[in-house]
Amino acid sequence: MHTEHIKIERLEAAETDLLRAAEILRSGGLVVFPTETVYGLGGNALDAHAAERIYAAKGRPSDNPLIIHVAFPEEAERYAYPNKTYYRLAKAFMPGPLTVILPKKENIPTTVTGGLDSVAVRCPSHPVAHRLIELAGVPIAAPSANLSGKPSPTAACHVAEDLDGRVQMILDGGESEIGLESTIVKIDGDTLTLLRPGGITYDALCMVCDKVTVAPAVTHRLAENERPLSPGMKYRHYAPSAPVVLLDGDEKQVLAFLKAEQERTSCAILCYDEELLRLAPVNLFPIGPKDDLATQAKRLFSALREADSANAEMIYAHLPPMEGIGLALYNRMIRAAAHTVKTIAQ
Ligand code: AMP
Ligand code: MG
Repeated sequence: MHTEHIKIERLEAAETDLLRAAEILRSGGLVVFPTETVYGLGGNALDAHAAERIYAAKGRPSDNPLIIHVAFPEEAERYAYPNKTYYRLAKAFMPGPLTVILPKKENIPTTVTGGLDSVAVRCPSHPVAHRLIELAGVPIAAPSANLSGKPSPTAACHVAEDLDGRVQMILDGGESEIGLESTIVKIDGDTLTLLRPGGITYDALCMVCDKVTVAPAVTHRLAENERPLSPGMKYRHYAPSAPVVLLDGDEKQVLAFLKAEQERTSCAILCYDEELLRLAPVNLFPIGPKDDLATQAKRLFSALREADSANAEMIYAHLPPMEGIGLALYNRMIRAAAHTVKTIAQ
């Protein structure tokens, strides 16, 4: 399949291309589009065949459900049964990086929901995503636009690496603003369960809902045969081919450990910007200033891809704190590392 690559500089100048992209979606084809979280691999969410094409293009197991994207929060009513809590969340956080799990209506094929009777709904804030969904006139099912097991794409070049020849069109809208996938919550009456942390933080959710619990799989390894609340939790995502080890401990001690490891092995390091001049200048992938978790979130996936292509024996990174967007970083990194944390003792 030939993949058309379209660069979008200004939304107003892109209407003709977006109309063509919308037509591809309506007729069952696949279009990759930018969102504020990561790039999405879109297909018509009302068309079971389009959903099958999405799973095939990604090489994704079909029991791992897709998120449906709508142009306006109230459109959820056409495809699901939202309650008061949904509307409280929508008022506070939509459009934006929040996905809500709701009981699904008949018109959403079970292929989209991996056989579940619930559906994940999100209303993205990225202007290109918003306009595309509006023009398509149908909800867009879209997982992250990477091959299954690769880090999510935060730039169109990552998408091209993974999906060139597998989709009709890639819309390049520049670098993703947040860089980690959406926060996912499940509503039970007035209680929220945080299934996946993202740009909308635990603290922000607590400002809107009194009862918010964090699903254990966000921070801990699932036991053998344990059934996760969200099917995606059981897959090892974001995994580079080299083993990833997260380092915990005193800053100076960790730096000394990294220096020693650089002499001993061919390791790649996801370092803080401040460490760039303190380490040997080989296979260093800066993810941002130590105290700037938002920048680290934005750069993580791109740094993981680059570190992976360095063909190092091992990839080291810092264990992030679990505060604010740090919880989302922690969740992605701990999974990339298959929960391998090394504590550097004094
Ligand atoms: P991705 O689209 O790659 O960001 O992944 C979407 C994630 O949303 C999946 O891995 C699922 O775990 C989660 N998800 C989607 N639909 C549901 C649902 N109905 N119930 C629980 N989790 C869901
Ligand atoms: Mg994904």
